[in-house]
Amino acid sequence: MSVFVGVDQVEKVFNLTGGGEYIALKGIDLEIKKGEFVSLIGHSGCGKSTLLNMIAGLDLPTEGVVTLEGKRITQPGPDRMVVFQNYSLLPWRSVRENIALAVNSVMPDLSVPERRKIVDRHIDMVGLRPHAEKSPTMLSGGQKQRVAIARALAIRPKLLLLDEPFGALDALTRGNLQEQLMKICEENQVTAVMVTHDVDEAVLLSDRIVMLTNGPASKIGSILEVDIPRPRKRMEVVEHPSYYSLRSEMIYFLNQQKRIKKIRARKTTVVAKHGLEKVNLEIGFVPLTACAPLAVAKEKGFFAKHGLDEVNLVRETSWRGIVDGIGGGYLDAAQMPSGMPMWLTLGGNENKPLPVVTSLTMTRNGNAITLSKDFYEHGIQDLYDFRNYLLHTRDRQHIMGVVHPSSMHNLLLRYWLAAGGIDPDSDVHIQTLPPAQMVADLQNGSIDGFCVGEPWNIRAAYEGIGITAASDLDVWLGHPGKVLGVREDWAAVYPNSFIALTKALLEACYYCSLPENTEEIRQILASKDYVSVPTEYIQIEPNQTSCDLDHPVGDYAHHQFYADSAINRPSRTEQIWIVTQLARWGHTPFPRNWVEIVERVCRVSTFSTAARELGMDISYVRKPIQFFDGTPFNADDPISYLNGLQIKHDFAVADVILDAHRIAA
Ligand code: ADP
Repeated sequence: MSVFVGVDQVEKVFNLTGGGEYIALKGIDLEIKKGEFVSLIGHSGCGKSTLLNMIAGLDLPTEGVVTLEGKRITQPGPDRMVVFQNYSLLPWRSVRENIALAVNSVMPDLSVPERRKIVDRHIDMVGLRPHAEKSPTMLSGGQKQRVAIARALAIRPKLLLLDEPFGALDALTRGNLQEQLMKICEENQVTAVMVTHDVDEAVLLSDRIVMLTNGPASKIGSILEVDIPRPRKRMEVVEHPSYYSLRSEMIYFLNQQKRIKKIRARKTTVVAKHGLEKVNLEIGFVPLTACAPLAVAKEKGFFAKHGLDEVNLVRETSWRGIVDGIGGGYLDAAQMPSGMPMWLTLGGNENKPLPVVTSLTMTRNGNAITLSKDFYEHGIQDLYDFRNYLLHTRDRQHIMGVVHPSSMHNLLLRYWLAAGGIDPDSDVHIQTLPPAQMVADLQNGSIDGFCVGEPWNIRAAYEGIGITAASDLDVWLGHPGKVLGVREDWAAVYPNSFIALTKALLEACYYCSLPENTEEIRQILASKDYVSVPTEYIQIEPNQTSCDLDHPVGDYAHHQFYADSAINRPSRTEQIWIVTQLARWGHTPFPRNWVEIVERVCRVSTFSTAARELGMDISYVRKPIQFFDGTPFNADDPISYLNGLQIKHDFAVADVILDAHRIAA
């Protein structure tokens, strides 16, 4: 369908009264189709009204053009009607006269009875017949807004523009009016653009939701398609499977914008000190038992000891927050799942390769696969029981939660399933969820199992919600869990800070490994700044110990933070295996230039410098990876290994071209 409203490379700059200027919007591109309902959402001051005003012709863009049916918008016109939050009705005229004035001025060629008919029809449309002769001052807020909508629609505008139309109304009135507006728009095929800050209103009314980033220079951060069929009813919309994902997508976006604003406010200048290029670092982490080295480095002063005296730990609820923070340059560094540096480098995120490097493996183990207790009640305790059960229950889709495509949880769960003859993409459905949401989702039945890091498997077992079907002991004992990741360009601009950061965290890993510190670390992790759960869920004993569970769960391999330097050194062998698995499941192509890529991602030199400066032994012997199913992995010939695996996607082998260093954000 052709473009109805076009917003093309629009920029809006305001001259400020005290001199200077403010760039409100920059690089806005948007195409709206006839009959579409589009919402603009974003934090207050991000430029939603400014954009709406430019479409209305109430204001002009500084750069770029706004068009309606191909014609440039330069002034307001009757083809575009705006409904504001504050009604803007004439108080000395009746409801009927307010609407009639608009109709008379726009349709002077129609006869008086014809115009009256239009006015009456619109009064009826919004259900105000009994109030037609009243002055707006005698009406409630909801009724006044209905008059404003009737007046706007009565002149048959091509485009209805709504600026927080229901913002001033109570919840009940707002709900009724939203339903009415939706019905009117559907029946009359109205094209509408609405500014709102209400996520539920946006999902209910829109075909598309345009999310604006925070200013200055706000841009379109993302556009959501609302695939909920029309006609819609509020009660049915909330039952639709897309409703919660759209809603949480918006909430994630808005929260992320809030955090970015906070980080930007702190991060105005680079503070160089103590021979380090940058000591004020924003480091992202996800609240898991595995964040112990970061928590300890902060709380026990290891960052400061190594000169990084202005470190701020940024808690993200999901790994996606880490991806966005690193990609957007808001985070200097982050705790990452061990596959994430490679996944980002190979273009796993939106097919845009972003070179990311790792200089430290911070944890090994600490993961498990949990199945809902319903399976246990069906006698299922391990992989083979699970496969047989799936074979007999093909009529139902089983959903397994993982925390990110690049996390070891995804790769280990898929490996485990495939080794048992279960295709992770056709026999079950794998869904990405934030770690802290897993237990609640398992309990309410929206997922059937998960693979996640501690404390969530232990919590599910303690609370009798799930059984541990396999721990690291049953899949790959000693696998890398979380690593330190930074952008390659960041490492190039701040090489000494990178070494200091690696040293601080390596020393923290050592601290975490000492049994005498276990209790203290459990207390730190359980606190609300970190994992925020009761202490009994935090298990970090350095050895393999069994959980005291009522349920017949296997032993856990708790986190390993340090033992010898091979534990913490970035491992090329492991990264090559990760490359094979990302290709195996179609997450990223297999890079023809894998040797170069692995070399770039694994910053062994930074690790070695850090370890040597801490006086640690850095001698290293490459060890083969041992999988539970006995399949050998040959790191020198990964393509043959990949070809030899039974269950897999058709994988592509492609050259992955990495940009030269960009400027660190
Ligand atoms: P929103 O509708 O998203 O709350 P606005 O479009 O009203 O945001 O404003 C966007 C930004 O532009 C804000 O920072 C606001 O202060 C600024 N702004 C809006 N109008 C003017 C103006 N006439 N002069 C200077 N700044 C303005």
